[in-house]
Amino acid sequence: MRAFTYERPSSAADAIAAATRAPGARFIAGGTNLLDLMKLEVETPTHLIDVNGLGMDGIEATADGGLRIGALVRNTDLAADARVRRDYALLTRALVSGASGQLRNKATTAGNLLQRTRCPYFYDTAQACNKRLPGSGCAAVEGASRQLAIIGGSADCIATHPSDMAVAMMALGASVETLRADGTRRLIALDALYRPPGTTPHLETTLLRGELIQAVILPPPAGGTHVYRKVRDRASYAFALVSVAAIVQADGSGRVALGGVAYKPWRSDAADAALPQGASAVMSSLLLGAAPTGQNHFKAVLAERTLASILQDLRARA
Ligand code: SF4
Repeated sequence: MRAFTYERPSSAADAIAAATRAPGARFIAGGTNLLDLMKLEVETPTHLIDVNGLGMDGIEATADGGLRIGALVRNTDLAADARVRRDYALLTRALVSGASGQLRNKATTAGNLLQRTRCPYFYDTAQACNKRLPGSGCAAVEGASRQLAIIGGSADCIATHPSDMAVAMMALGASVETLRADGTRRLIALDALYRPPGTTPHLETTLLRGELIQAVILPPPAGGTHVYRKVRDRASYAFALVSVAAIVQADGSGRVALGGVAYKPWRSDAADAALPQGASAVMSSLLLGAAPTGQNHFKAVLAERTLASILQDLRARA
C-alpha cells in the first residue's frame, strides 16, 4: 500500500474543500472496496478524507411521501428499516443478497453506489486495463469475460457494475442528492450518475471533483409486488451473473432493471411498457443492441428466463 495522509473533517463543506484542494484525494466511509483496492495498489490516493463524522446517517420521510436515505446509512440498517421493508421491499431483498453480513454492517449507501467493478483484470496490476491505467488496453475483450457486460460497453471496456442495491434503486426510480464545491446542491437521477465507458472507462460517474453524495432519494412507494432475483455461480457471497429487479402491479404493468449486464443497472421506459406482454418482449427491447462476447452470450437468455420465472411465480400466486 502506498503512503497517504488522512483527515476527518467535521463538516461537509470542509470535506469538499479538502477534496477540491488535493487532486489525489478520495472520500472514505465504510472502506469495504477502497481499502482492498489500496492494498493492491489499484487505487493510490494521496489523501483520504474520512466522511464518517458528517452525520448523513438518517432515513427520513420526504414531503411527497418518499424516503431520503443518508449517504452513510449502513447497508444492514437500510435493509432492516421498517419503512423500507414495508414500502420498498425490493431494496431490502437486493441488499441482503449482496456481500456478507460483516460487509453490510460497514458498507454505506453512497459507497455501495460508487463501488468499482470486479472485473478480474482491473484488480491485477500485471494486466492491461484501460479503467485502471488509461490507454493500456483491455485484457478482458480477448480474455475471460464470462462475468462481464453484454450491453453498454465499448471496445475499451466491458466491465459491469457489481452492486445489487443499485439495481433495486434503479427500478425504484431513485435519485442522488449531492453537494458541490460551490455550495449548491443537485439531484442526479441514478440512471444519469453512471457514465458509459466509451473511450474513457476510467471516468465512471458524472460527479464533479469534490462533489459529495449526501443522500439517496426514493420517490413515493409504487406499490405492486417486489421481486429481486439474483443468479450467481454459488448461493452466497458471489456477484450476479444476472439479476432482475421487478416491481409488478396487479394489471401486469411495472418496472424492471437488470444487474450484471452493463456498466450500470440497466432499464428503459420502453422495456417497462412491454412488461404486460411478457419477459420475451421486455428483453427484446431492453437488450436491443447487446454485444455479448463468446463467453457471456448466455446472459441474455438467462435474464429473459429469470424474468419469465418471476412472472410465472407471480401468476401462480395470484
Ligand atoms: Fe479493465 Fe474494463 Fe477491460 Fe476489465 S473490461 S480489463 S475493467 S478496461
